[in-house]
Amino acid sequence: MSVTSARCSDRTGSRHDFRERGYLFIANTLLGVAELREPLPLYERLKVPAEMVGRVEIAELVPRMRVDDLAGGRFCGRDGYGDPLVALAGFAASAQLAGVTFREGIGVEALLREGDRVTGVRTTAGDVRAERVLVATGCWTSALCATASVAVPIWPYRRSIMESGPIPQLADIPLTIEWESGFHFRPKGKAQRFAMPNLTADGTEEKGPAGAPSAYPGEYAPLEVPASLEPWVLARAAWRHPAFADLRIVDSWSCYYEMTPDDHPVVGAVPGVAGLYVAAGFSGHGFMHAPATAQLVVEEMLDGRARTIDIADLSLERFQTGRRPFKATVL
Ligand SMILES: Cc1cc2nc3c(=O)[nH]c(=O)nc-3n(C[C@H](O)[C@H](O)[C@H](O)COP(=O)(O)OP(=O)(O)OC[C@H]3O[C@@H](n4cnc5c(N)ncnc54)[C@H](O)[C@@H]3O)c2cc1C
Repeated sequence: MSVTSARCSDRTGSRHDFRERGYLFIANTLLGVAELREPLPLYERLKVPAEMVGRVEIAELVPRMRVDDLAGGRFCGRDGYGDPLVALAGFAASAQLAGVTFREGIGVEALLREGDRVTGVRTTAGDVRAERVLVATGCWTSALCATASVAVPIWPYRRSIMESGPIPQLADIPLTIEWESGFHFRPKGKAQRFAMPNLTADGTEEKGPAGAPSAYPGEYAPLEVPASLEPWVLARAAWRHPAFADLRIVDSWSCYYEMTPDDHPVVGAVPGVAGLYVAAGFSGHGFMHAPATAQLVVEEMLDGRARTIDIADLSLERFQTGRRPFKATVL
C-alpha cells in the first residue's frame, strides 16, 4: 500500500487509521522463498522497498515467533493496514462535499442498453438515464452485466476472518503471512485478527478457488463461518507463536471475495458497449487498490484512456480473447 494516512487525510479531509507496520511474508520451503523473490525486479523498478529476509530478521520483526520451520521471507516496511470502513466514510464524505449525491437502499435491477451503447440503469426507485455507467458491484457484477448481455467472469468465493481477545505484546507487529498456507494475522487495536485459507471436505488448505464455476455468477455459499475453521486456526496459531497458545476466538465472520479467472480485477471500458465501464473482481485486494482504481477508471471515463498508468491489461477484453497477461495469485 503506498497511500499513506497523511495523503488520505489531505485528499479527503478525514482521518484514516493506516498503520505503516509492514507486510511480512514467511515461507516454509525453498520453492516458497523463490516465489517470494520472483517479483523483486518489478518492485525495484516501481521503487517498492521490499527485501528478502532470513530467520534472524524475521525473529526481530515478530519477537518470539517460531522461525525454525522457515526457509526465509520477504518484508516491506512501507506496507500496512487500515480500517476499510473508516476509509470509506472519509471518501464518501469528501465526495459529498464535492457535490456527489448518494442514494442508499436502492437496488439496480438492470442496465439500460440501446444497441451498442448504455443509456442508464433501471432501479427499484425508477430509471436513471446516463451517458456513462460504472458497474462497481463486487461479486454481483456478473449478474448485473448480464442484463445488458455482457459476460463478466466474476464469482463469489467465501472467506472468513476471526478475532481474538487482547494480546498487547503483539500490538505493533507487521501483517504476518504464511506464504504456503495463506494463514495470516495482524493486530487490530490490542486484539489480533486472523485470516485463513478455506478447508476443503478432505481438510486440504485452499488459498484460492480450485477453479472457476461452470456458469457465472456461480454459487453463493451461505455466509456462515465453516465449523472446521476455528480448530484449524487455533492449532495453526499456537504452532506459529507461543502468545497464541491459549487463544480465545471472540468474533468471526465470512464474506465473499470477488474472483476472476486470473485473480486480477476487471477495470475500464467494456469493449463494444459505449459508455459502460466496470471496476470489480478484486479478490482479496480491493481495499488497497481502491484509491488507484478510482483515479484510473475516472481518467478512462472522462478522457477516454487512463493516463497515470496503462490499464489495458485489466480490460474485460482479456477474457473475451483468451489473452492471459497475469499469473494468478491470491492471498
Ligand atoms: C475476508 C476478506 C478479507 C479481505 N482482506 C482484504 C485485505 O486485507 N486487503 C484488501 O485490499 N482487500 C481485502 N479484501 C477484499 C476487499 O474487501 C474487496 O476486494 C473490496 O471490498 C471490493 O470492493 P468493491 O467496492 O469492488 O465491492 P464491494 O465491497 O462488494 O461493494 C459492492 C457494493 O455493490 C452493492 N451492489 C451489488 N449489486 C448491486 C445492485 N444490483 N444494486 C445496488 N447495489 C448493488 C453491494 O451491496 C455492495 O455494497 C478482503 C475480502 C474479504 C472477504
